[in-house]
Amino acid sequence: MRVLKFGGTSVADAEAIAGVVSIVGARPGARVVVVSALAGATDALLAIAHLAAKDAVAAMGELHDLARRHRETMTRVRTLYPRQVLDAAIEGIARGAAQTVHAIAAAGQPSPALVDKLIASGELWSSRLLAAFLADAGVPAQWIDARHIVRTDARHRAALPDLEATDKAVGRLVRPALAVDRVVVTAGFIGSAPDGSTTTLGRGGSDYSAAVIGACLMADEIEIWTDVDGVLSADPRVVSGARVLPALSYEDAETLARFGAKVLHPRTIEPAAAREIPVIVRNSRRPEEPGTRIDASGAGDGRSAAVTSRAGVSLVEITARDRPPDGSFAARALQSLADANISLVVGEIHRDRLVVAIDQAFDLTAFRARVAAFAQVQMRDGLAAVCAVGDRLASEPGLVMGAFAVLDEGPVHLVSRPSGSAAFAVIVDDCDAHKLVARLHDRFAGEALAAGPPLP
Ligand code: ASP
Ligand code: MG
Repeated sequence: MRVLKFGGTSVADAEAIAGVVSIVGARPGARVVVVSALAGATDALLAIAHLAAKDAVAAMGELHDLARRHRETMTRVRTLYPRQVLDAAIEGIARGAAQTVHAIAAAGQPSPALVDKLIASGELWSSRLLAAFLADAGVPAQWIDARHIVRTDARHRAALPDLEATDKAVGRLVRPALAVDRVVVTAGFIGSAPDGSTTTLGRGGSDYSAAVIGACLMADEIEIWTDVDGVLSADPRVVSGARVLPALSYEDAETLARFGAKVLHPRTIEPAAAREIPVIVRNSRRPEEPGTRIDASGAGDGRSAAVTSRAGVSLVEITARDRPPDGSFAARALQSLADANISLVVGEIHRDRLVVAIDQAFDLTAFRARVAAFAQVQMRDGLAAVCAVGDRLASEPGLVMGAFAVLDEGPVHLVSRPSGSAAFAVIVDDCDAHKLVARLHDRFAGEALAAGPPLP
């Protein structure tokens, strides 16, 4: 049994959806298909949510255009029954979205719960469309509302799935459909909170949905279909010699995603790794390409090496007021970061000082006030995190020292080994990041890739 997830560019229009239909149709055995919103739809819906609070009429106009895009895509479905079901579904979703736009306008601001309700329309539309396209092509597809499957906590815009509740729902809804040879089609990205309200898993969260559903089903494979040939050794816009990695370990894939590689949502790996389900990243426009296989062993031949970077990082230094510092200083400082909902990229903990890299806009004044009794806070922004992963970093200790030799260009604000010994990350000035990615790739990934047999 397989879970196949298709990203927004894989379902951007009727042509792309037809490509997805032939990929799904050609896969043998039981299948669950998880789909993102049509390319650009989530961005458009988010813009509508913000516009609704200021100018409801303009927001309705934009929503109308977006609904029309889905209606136009729908005209390609020719068979009568799926077409009627689809017609009703597309209109129902459009009406629901219009009501939510009015609710945001009435509230005068887009609350996270209302934003979730509105942006979920993108995946509801796309999953309904895909189910109808599949049925039109003779594939026995059954659409299931993802909000009935993926049960989450109540954190709107960044909800975490409740695995136990989701597992039960998968058993109740998905397994019976698979048992009668239906191809299950559902929406990525969305779920429902304990109170029944619609939640979303954070931008790019459809990958995560696929991994969670795949884990509940104990799938043989989770296929992430996207618009690149797999996980690359670097961003090809930054490094012209970037290449597709044939294989990658769970740990390295997770680290790359966390440090800026856009190809996978960072949380995707965890549920798959926990049950040792391989994740395969493939290109829906070039289904003949083998893609990247992510599993427990990775490449194991020293050839999986990659470098990535992530901009918009700030470094926060929290220093104890007491000298010598109170023994609980670091714990208190970490707790205050957690209480302020600040997530760390990497950090360094000392007895009297905490240096952490964070990746979000940060209200320094509020945080200073929060810790004023026991700490002083300084911040530097305009930084980037650069991270290298690869088997050889673990097996050849000299390599990391050698790699540091290319760091002499600009200041290095923090060095860290984010996930065990097979990766290292540095925090540098934003303006140095791309240059450093290219040099590290040359030095380390380029060499590692060149050292192995030629890529397929
Ligand atoms: N449509 C959502 C987004 O654009 C989720 C996804 O594409 O995975 O963030
Ligand atoms: Mg994505």
